Amino acid sequence: MSKFGFTISKDQQIDYDHLSRELARYIQKAEPTVYRCMSCGSCAGSCSAAKFTQFSFRKLVTGVLRGDDRHIIGEIQKCMLCGKCMLVCPRGVNTRNVIHQLRKALNERNRHEV
Ligand code: SF4
Ligand code: SF4
Repeated sequence: MSKFGFTISKDQQIDYDHLSRELARYIQKAEPTVYRCMSCGSCAGSCSAAKFTQFSFRKLVTGVLRGDDRHIIGEIQKCMLCGKCMLVCPRGVNTRNVIHQLRKALNERNRHEV
């Protein structure tokens, strides 16, 4: 069979029946501007951490709001809290506080799991 230089993408289905939206509900309360995000990607384009890693605030928030927070623990530590993303966000999302609040929630979760 000929190779055309591309492959089939991995299944991206989100199973809402089995994912928990607990973190999404928490962040909605702690930093309500998160719901203004329209996934434009301007934050990712200006992100200091993205220059050195695969970090994307847009992907992180999209995952959390969908209840898909499987990769968040490894990802969220990459943010340097520099705040550049806040300056470029056209929707006024308080991105830095979103990260800060998510880290807080994850620390709490870890403390209860230990
Ligand atoms: S720049 Fe703002 S609206 Fe755009 S993806 Fe980032 S947080 Fe969302
Ligand atoms: S605060 Fe975090 S997400 Fe925003 S630009 Fe800086 S490193 Fe990137």
